[in-house]
Amino acid sequence: MVLAQSAHELRDTWRMNSSPIRAITLDLDDTLWPIWPVIERAEQALHEWLLRHCPRTAERFPIVEMRALRASVADAHPHLTHDYCAQRTLSLQQAMRASGEDPAGASEAFEVFMAERNRVDLYPDALDGLHRLGAQHRLAALTNGNADLQRIGLATHFEFALGAREFGRAKPDPSIFLAACARLDLAPHEVLHVGDDPELDVLGARAAGLHCAWINRRDEQWTHECAPDITITSLLQLADWLDSRPTAKSPT
Ligand SMILES: [Mg+2]
Repeated sequence: MVLAQSAHELRDTWRMNSSPIRAITLDLDDTLWPIWPVIERAEQALHEWLLRHCPRTAERFPIVEMRALRASVADAHPHLTHDYCAQRTLSLQQAMRASGEDPAGASEAFEVFMAERNRVDLYPDALDGLHRLGAQHRLAALTNGNADLQRIGLATHFEFALGAREFGRAKPDPSIFLAACARLDLAPHEVLHVGDDPELDVLGARAAGLHCAWINRRDEQWTHECAPDITITSLLQLADWLDSRPTAKSPT
């Protein structure tokens, strides 16, 4: 077992040293900004809108009940696993119908949620990190969430954003990582993926053949046998590490 792990580590070291990283794909939620404060604010804004415009829905489905309804909608519609927007809109329609109100209001209610969902507070290192990483590497966003980089104001840092909703499958499915590589016109071993989630980001990227950096902002323990290529606590640390390696921007 020890020998196998050593061989694995040696192979990874060789792989990392011999192939320059030409592009970086970045997760968004909990990588560039903490997501739960954003979701809680968005749920509160939605509830306040419902109190004004759909009071029976607001009374019957306060925040906790609305979360439970959304979870049951997700369970009942596994084909929407990758599409949080559809899950939430469907939940709102069901809640309004069950409360005797017009489900047509769901789209406006959802827009209230999304406006707040795209008001994020970046981690302190995020903007400088994107500038430094983007100066040396092509960047793409790769997310299972429904953040809108245009609305957030970060779109210019990225060549493109690939989301599970438009792609049709979510991380950790290797196909979404491979689709990002194809769009970059690079082989997986030329791309590094950065994300906070051990399964969705690190194991998913590794399974697709990408290099992977685990951004561990909360001092968590790594519990999987297959380790990330590097563990970092900020994007600046990643930029420092990449500065010490051969890099090349490939033609766009
Ligand atoms: Mg994340």
